[in-house]
Amino acid sequence: MFANKVVGVVGSGLSSYACVSRLVLDPSIKIVVLDNDKEAENFSDSLKKDIKAQDNYVDRLKIFYDFINKKKIDGSNQINKSYFGSSIFNEENSGKNNFKLYSSNSYGGLSNIWGAVNNTPLIESLSSWPIKYSDLSSYFSTIAKIINLCSEKDNMSSLLKFEYQNDYGFKLSPIANEWYLKIINKLDQFNKDDIFIGRSQLSLNNNLNEKKYCVECGMCMHGCPHDIIFNSRLKFDDFKRKNQIHYYRNYQVLEFIENKYKINVI
Ligand SMILES: Cc1cc2nc3c(=O)[nH]c(=O)nc-3n(C[C@H](O)[C@H](O)[C@H](O)COP(=O)(O)OP(=O)(O)OC[C@H]3O[C@@H](n4cnc5c(N)ncnc54)[C@H](O)[C@@H]3O)c2cc1C
Repeated sequence: MFANKVVGVVGSGLSSYACVSRLVLDPSIKIVVLDNDKEAENFSDSLKKDIKAQDNYVDRLKIFYDFINKKKIDGSNQINKSYFGSSIFNEENSGKNNFKLYSSNSYGGLSNIWGAVNNTPLIESLSSWPIKYSDLSSYFSTIAKIINLCSEKDNMSSLLKFEYQNDYGFKLSPIANEWYLKIINKLDQFNKDDIFIGRSQLSLNNNLNEKKYCVECGMCMHGCPHDIIFNSRLKFDDFKRKNQIHYYRNYQVLEFIENKYKINVI
């Protein structure tokens, strides 16, 4: 459909990443990415390095909060996660009916701070949706591949009825494992009450060939310093390195104007 065309993609979040993943399959397409990202490039590299160098969790957190305090980041308009203390990674806006809307103006978007939990939906959960489970389910494995979804066969995956291709590559933390072992013997009892127990299906950046494993540093709530949580920023780095996209940062798209033969972007 887009062969030999220039296709513009706005932003570098997960949605943009999904679009680009599809577009790069056709090398005749020229992909132009316009991103509102205003953050200084590689601003977090030295902080990541400092955090990784600490031996214990408290010292790691201290480095993180010293950085936030030094940057005078206002906590009042921040969601309770912050990618290495960046002040512009997320914005809070009030929506209708007092809903709070979060958006991101950063390279990688909210995938810098997301939980990366991607469970397939239950059939019953979609019963009141305008789209059917059967219409969606044929795409699950494609999506799982794009966002490197990892799981293992357990009580939870049997409930969700989805065969995952990739392993986590690391075990549960000692604390989570202790808790898990305590309840695993009572699964039948829990299942009778419709409670299913297992590890969350997670999108990871666990390139097993490079042996990138979780080191249990405990900093996942602040942007994984080891880049093991899946992040579209790293994927866009890849696209750029391989010259698959033309990336322009600090470009804010205000409007699309659709003409008969082309779309103008302002
Ligand atoms: C704390 C937290 C935890 C979460 N945990 C999970 C989870 O576990 N599982 C899950 O599935 N989801 C989770 N989410 C939700 C998920 O992160 C978001 O739904 C998803 O990242 C949104 O991706 P997006 O590409 O639509 O938008 P965004 O990530 O907001 O990306 C928008 C992109 O567009 C650019 N941009 C914005 N406006 C303009 C403009 N005018 N011109 C040019 N560029 C522009 C920005 O720079 C950015 O790159 C979580 C979200 C948060 C905040």
